[in-house]
Amino acid sequence: MGSSAADNLKLDFTTFYNVIDNSLTPTKHTRHAINPSTEEPLPEVPVSTQEDVDDAVRAGQEAFTAWKELSYEERAGYITKFTDAIEANLEGLTEMLGKEAGKPIPSAGMEFALVMGHLRETVKLRIPDEVVEDSEERTATIRYTPLGVGVGIIPWNFPILLAIGKLDAALLTGNTFIWKPSPYTPYTSLKIGELGAKIFPPGVLQVLSGNEDLGPKLTAHPGVAKISFTGSTATGKKVMQSCAATLKRVTLEMGGNDAAIVCEDVDIAAVIPKVSMLSFIHSGQICMVIKRVYVHEKIYDEFLEKMAAFVKNLKVAPAGDPEAMLGPIQNAMQFGKVKDLYNEIGRQGWQTVLGGLPDQQNRPAEKGFFMPPTIIANPPDDSRIVVEEPFGPIIPVLKWSDEKDVIRRANDTMMGLGASVWSSDIERASRMAKKLEAGSIWVNTHFELSPHMQFGGHKWSGMGVDWGVLGMKGWCNPQAFWVRKVIV
Ligand code: NAD
Repeated sequence: MGSSAADNLKLDFTTFYNVIDNSLTPTKHTRHAINPSTEEPLPEVPVSTQEDVDDAVRAGQEAFTAWKELSYEERAGYITKFTDAIEANLEGLTEMLGKEAGKPIPSAGMEFALVMGHLRETVKLRIPDEVVEDSEERTATIRYTPLGVGVGIIPWNFPILLAIGKLDAALLTGNTFIWKPSPYTPYTSLKIGELGAKIFPPGVLQVLSGNEDLGPKLTAHPGVAKISFTGSTATGKKVMQSCAATLKRVTLEMGGNDAAIVCEDVDIAAVIPKVSMLSFIHSGQICMVIKRVYVHEKIYDEFLEKMAAFVKNLKVAPAGDPEAMLGPIQNAMQFGKVKDLYNEIGRQGWQTVLGGLPDQQNRPAEKGFFMPPTIIANPPDDSRIVVEEPFGPIIPVLKWSDEKDVIRRANDTMMGLGASVWSSDIERASRMAKKLEAGSIWVNTHFELSPHMQFGGHKWSGMGVDWGVLGMKGWCNPQAFWVRKVIV
């Protein structure tokens, strides 16, 4: 990239606009989010109105006419330039993400590493036509045609990766895309939208920031062809209800309550750091990390003690602290929910082996939404900490003895996002894992992802999938294409 092209792509992180039809568009009213590490206000961002939504949808529809006619290679070319532009601004974008999402730099850096990998790999994917019949008389082929204007509704916990995983598939398959970030984390998204405006034709990629009333405006809009939503199960149900009125296509990625089953034959020293990190990473605010650990009774006491010792050493600190491993809870609303769950410790008499209600004398910083990493030893199966998705740094470690029974307990939930089995005996673990009811199942790992593999939930954790060729198919209508070679 020449220096003037690079200068043109340099982002300024002080002012924030909607991106509509490739214009940086202010709104009459603005709002701001809060830095969760300091509780200080972040800069003002737009509050989109119905008019902004109408403008963006109209621009998206107009752009769709030409965009869908481009070849895969041409669209992939635009996405690659867009990816290069993100890469050229990686430092500023990572810092902004860390600040707004409460992610220590290694964690924000990890999100961007996944983003870059996702973009670079997804552009290589294609949906080939599938020839079902090619006889002397006729051909029958399945084609996949784009839908129109797609909308991605995104949560605050992985605000960039989860949006990119929708955006790249939507654009590559010939749809246009409106990105609606969470009101808690709009900043980095708006800046990436600005880069898009310098690269894509007008109306192809747009970003709208707003209050909680913006999502419903988009799900209700008759000009939107598809909503791809990631967020809580409760909101997902509302999205589906709203989309029914205009029969929009819908993909829902929702909550999880992932179980990890640890067998008695594991190498404890090797498994402890993995299971611990996969439970506490981003302070538990990831849909698909471990939320319930089931440990075989023969190794339970040793495992619990060693897990507590490991987690105790993870430094909780503001996102800007270079040594921070775990940051704050992302926002005041979630902080309130998590505190309420910690209050249950005393009310229910749960046994803590680490953490518990925060000690006001011993906070990692004067301000910020911090909660101490907490491990609850063997609470009852019907307790809130086992049944609910905490979305905070608190996890139950439960005891098991019978294989069939632990699988029943792991499956005893309406959630079905991910689940794992850990054992030195791969055959045994695979046999057990295949009985788990979840969209992703793992042996000796958890939260392992690839842009080539679909990502989605079973039961109340999801409908449809993102990522991979299967995810791309979700951005298309399948079309049966019949050709009679001889007219008889
Ligand atoms: P949320 O459901 O509150 O919000 C998600 C998004 O929906 C936000 O952009 C929000 O503004 C928007 N929204 C809110 N009400 C809406 C409505 N009525 N219509 C349309 N849009 C609306 O979720 P959250 O608190 O931002 O995120 C946390 C939840 O997301 C957790 O339950 C977590 O498990 C889930 N999650 C799931 C996945 C997954 O891939 N399955 C990934 C990350 C997070």
